[in-house]
Amino acid sequence: MIRFENVTKRYRGTKRPALSDVDFNVEAGEFVFLVGASGSGKSTCLRLILREDVPTTGRVAVLGRDLRSLANRKVPYFRRQIGSVFQDFRLLPSKTVAQNVAFSLQVIGSSRGFIQQAVPEALALVGLDGKAKRMPHELSGGEQQRVAIARAIVNRPKVLLADEPTGNLDPATSVGIMQLLTRINAGGTTVVMATHEAAFVDQMQRRVIELQNGVMVRDELGGGYGDTS
Ligand code: ADP
Ligand code: ADP
Repeated sequence: MIRFENVTKRYRGTKRPALSDVDFNVEAGEFVFLVGASGSGKSTCLRLILREDVPTTGRVAVLGRDLRSLANRKVPYFRRQIGSVFQDFRLLPSKTVAQNVAFSLQVIGSSRGFIQQAVPEALALVGLDGKAKRMPHELSGGEQQRVAIARAIVNRPKVLLADEPTGNLDPATSVGIMQLLTRINAGGTTVVMATHEAAFVDQMQRRVIELQNGVMVRDELGGGYGDTS
């Protein structure tokens, strides 16, 4: 589903590569944590998966496509198959909850009929049935992130990328968001979540890929250092 083959990414004007010879393969249906300190290369990995950038050397393939040979005009269509969630939610402040979710379908030309069915389904899945007509500023941070997740999955993407989705949330709220992402993964969506909260991650007993200064130092199934049981 997501394959990195000896990926090195060097940004122009920098000495040290952001990623050095990173190699991993994520299968369909997996839940993977991408962990590491700030600056270790997590966001760069996510940007390469979305084809927002290309590797300096090596190969990235997503959904069976080598992204280097993906024509620029095909990139928007490729990205429709991938949902994204961010630390800062990125909701449209002047649209209601339902309109925020509907908007992502409207811009890709979904039919009114599909939108009318899919928006309430997505809001129900994230536990926000009753909040369709609220404005983002009327919601808590955790609820806003649920709206962002509903928007990311409403088009039923095969892959969901989450960049520090709990970074602005308190621990109790974060647990709820983690449970939601786990539930989405259980429905068959491949989930890749970048976070610097390694201890929290180890409790989840999922696959962990750890980066240090752009080097992959760990790729472990189920738990890690934090697991003392
Ligand atoms: P993380 O998401 O783990 O915080 P990043 O992927 O954002 O890490 O960054 C990895 C390294 O690449 C850092 O040293 C960062 O400063 C550098 N970097 C990221 N984006 C750029 C860019 N657009 N131009 C130059 N350097 C960058
Ligand atoms: P607009 O005025 O921009 O057309 P609407 O508020 O009428 O926006 O609806 C935008 C989309 O959001 C609609 O396609 C509808 O399916 C969905 N939607 C609107 N209100 C609700 C609601 N209360 N519950 C679920 N979905 C809703």
